Amino acid sequence: MSETAWHPTDEQPRGTRLRGRLLVPGLPGGIPVTRVTGVEPGPALLVTAGVHGGEYCGIEAALQFANALDPAALCGEVTILALVNRPAFYAKRQYVVPEDGLNVNRVFPGRPDGSLAERLAHAVMRVAATAQHWVDLHSGDLHEALWPFVIYSPDGPAPVAQTARRMAQAYGIPVLVESPAIAGGTYQAATRAGIAAILAESGQMGQLEPADVARHVAGLHNVCRALGLVPEPAQVFETTTYTQNLWVRSPRAGLQHPQVRVGQAVRAGEPGAILTDEFGDVRDRIAVPHDGRVLFHATSLAINEDDPLFAVVAP
Ligand SMILES: [Zn+2]
Repeated sequence: MSETAWHPTDEQPRGTRLRGRLLVPGLPGGIPVTRVTGVEPGPALLVTAGVHGGEYCGIEAALQFANALDPAALCGEVTILALVNRPAFYAKRQYVVPEDGLNVNRVFPGRPDGSLAERLAHAVMRVAATAQHWVDLHSGDLHEALWPFVIYSPDGPAPVAQTARRMAQAYGIPVLVESPAIAGGTYQAATRAGIAAILAESGQMGQLEPADVARHVAGLHNVCRALGLVPEPAQVFETTTYTQNLWVRSPRAGLQHPQVRVGQAVRAGEPGAILTDEFGDVRDRIAVPHDGRVLFHATSLAINEDDPLFAVVAP
């Protein structure tokens, strides 16, 4: 049953949960899909995870959420793609699709005849076209420590941007990052297609910490309440909005020693990372660029030129 080819516009009876596989040319097995249709009509929500194959808490949370949704208590429909980038997942690779070296989250909306990363993005966009709302689940990658946060774009038509902010506020993570969408990212593609979207980050370093998974699962359920997919009042949370989001990248390849911790309050000029060469001699002392809090930092000793070292956010 779970191996059936699935098409985004397939008719599905109300009040059912259907599993299938979204076809992607050149990728045997495609992308696993679960769609849950409510007994009553309502909005359509897309949930994606595993756009980055090593971000396990998002993947696990998407599956738990897909299987916990009760069709009898749902108004509208929810479609879950829990493992978008299966090639990277099984290769245990950070960021990219092994076949083409591309970051799927930089090639949206993709192309039907492009490389595998572009074909994956294009397949996801075909599903997104059936939804008005989209939550994309991420975590710190295999080599990243991360302070849980939700990011959304203020761009796009006002009703779309306002709904995205409302979804972000409902997620239950106190750290909201309002930031122009990254070119080729899921929530930029969503905004351009008129879909209200957020990108939620919880979990880090290839670990499957139950609290980090639960944070994503709770966030998804409360977004459903906030959007009226589940007829219960949504929980309300205190949040802080950060509008400055500065990434610091490595000027060289070598060995890196982080000097900050996630969530830490930092001041401009403090040490952010120390880079040494392959003999252990210090080559760079990378300073924190402005006052704020540390959103994430690389944990790998290995660093390549232009790799992100850390990010600082400020209100
Ligand atoms: Zn990611």
